[in-house]
Amino acid sequence: MNHCRVCASDIATTAYEASAPALTSVMTILDMPTQVFVCDTCGHAQCADLPDIQTFYDTGYKISLGSEDHDQIFAVATDGTPIFRTDHQAALALRLFDLPEGASLLDYGAAKATTLRKIFATRPDLQPHVFDVSSDYASAWQGWIEPENQAIYSTPSQWAGRFDAIMTHFVLEHVAEPVAFLSSLHDMLKVDGRLLVSIPDVAANPGDMAVVDHLNHFSDASLRYAFAKSGLIVETMDRTSFPGAFFVVATRPQAPVIAERDQASALQAADRSRGICDFWTKAAQNLDDAVSKAAGRSAAIYGAGFYGSWIFSRMEKHIELRNFLDQNPKLHGTEHFGRPVIAPAQLPIDIEIVFIGLNPLKAREAIAALPALHREGLELVWIDA
Ligand SMILES: [Zn+2]
Repeated sequence: MNHCRVCASDIATTAYEASAPALTSVMTILDMPTQVFVCDTCGHAQCADLPDIQTFYDTGYKISLGSEDHDQIFAVATDGTPIFRTDHQAALALRLFDLPEGASLLDYGAAKATTLRKIFATRPDLQPHVFDVSSDYASAWQGWIEPENQAIYSTPSQWAGRFDAIMTHFVLEHVAEPVAFLSSLHDMLKVDGRLLVSIPDVAANPGDMAVVDHLNHFSDASLRYAFAKSGLIVETMDRTSFPGAFFVVATRPQAPVIAERDQASALQAADRSRGICDFWTKAAQNLDDAVSKAAGRSAAIYGAGFYGSWIFSRMEKHIELRNFLDQNPKLHGTEHFGRPVIAPAQLPIDIEIVFIGLNPLKAREAIAALPALHREGLELVWIDA
């Protein structure tokens, strides 16, 4: 039995279950099964708890720490130019917040606070504040955020009711108790202060469902309910500006908020989530079949992101996996799981089979645009085949 992280209803059965190993959002492999539960009451989907969540984030989760320059790619423009996540987040936050002169802004769960730094570069009148659950990133904050405006592990009591705006990018999906988390952000806002939350949209990027450290897979319905239970009123729910993500802006009103569930949209969301879970069950079968047929042949995986890593995690040792192919120029010359990452155009001539590790909603269009993957005799394996 599992309890919904948003509405606390009992959830009796798993909607997706895969044996160990499991893959994390930072492409590490954990020796634990992946289990997804879907709630019909509020439309939330969730993964099981991680064994030791505190230690995982304090010491095991080093996103973007390797190099100053490393940044996650979130899209590739039609001319092939990669677009980086923090640039886009900063531009979107500035547009959605439209902050007044001198406003106080907290980046909560900031890591290196790259997004906040880019906002501050455009708006030096703002008062930047930062919080993270790990001490790994503190050196990246020095010199531009006042020491008293930095906090690690817990937020100071004098931050209650202090902020004009708080943003938290790709954090809420990781927290075990999302309503308590949003309530604590609510308490740090001034009345009429605004909160911006970005999180993955599993409906637009079904891979998110199988990410074991994404404990929450929100739907429109479960998001609205979680915000209302936390005393916040959703103002904007943008699902298009950042492909594969929700950008939600909410305000802290003077009066208490009454949380009401929308049963019809909750059921619709639950059905959609179960459909995604069925996709993953079939994808795992397809991949197991393709891998056993490919024994002894030299192979590459297209995509050094989540889908490509998931394929890798389920491959047996007898495939001769030579390379990862990826469009992101910042990954070229690096290794992923011990294999060189190269540009698709550099695909070695003796590779016989390429496993396509991309969002299945976009994979065929992306691969159609790459002549190197359409040469004579090259076999392509699709997980949704
Ligand atoms: Zn629920």
